Amino acid sequence: MSELLRIIDSETALAQAEEKFAQTKRTRENLKQRRNDGKLLYNSWQGSNDWHQWRIQQLEHQGWKCACCSKQMGFGEKTYLDNGDFTLEPHHPTVDHILPKSFFPELTLDKQNLVMVCWSCNRKKSNSVAIASRMRHQKLEQRRNIKNSSL
Ligand SMILES: [Zn+2]
Repeated sequence: MSELLRIIDSETALAQAEEKFAQTKRTRENLKQRRNDGKLLYNSWQGSNDWHQWRIQQLEHQGWKCACCSKQMGFGEKTYLDNGDFTLEPHHPTVDHILPKSFFPELTLDKQNLVMVCWSCNRKKSNSVAIASRMRHQKLEQRRNIKNSSL
């Protein structure tokens, strides 16, 4: 390889590397933005009358069973920790996003994307899309069964 060619080659490689870096940075900023959007949207709904009503309605719809582990749920005590965080009793019902709001902020308040899961499952879930798909499947099944039984 001639000296000139080698320089061109490394310049190209450098440009490619720079472009890749810029892309990664854009993606990361985008993800951060999306995560933030989802959080803000959810916070705007949490604690509202509609939020309270929807939770009870959904719990009754699910027979107070966790959409993930099927165990019976019931409201429990909230315990504040020294660091300002809090913990709930394992069977306490929590709102959960089938497709995580961090990746799909546009589905944050879409009730088709919400189920009730116990605190114990909610903590374990951590944005796993595999679990999310399984839960989505279960939810669709539930809906189908209800439709069939009401015919
Ligand atoms: Zn559960």
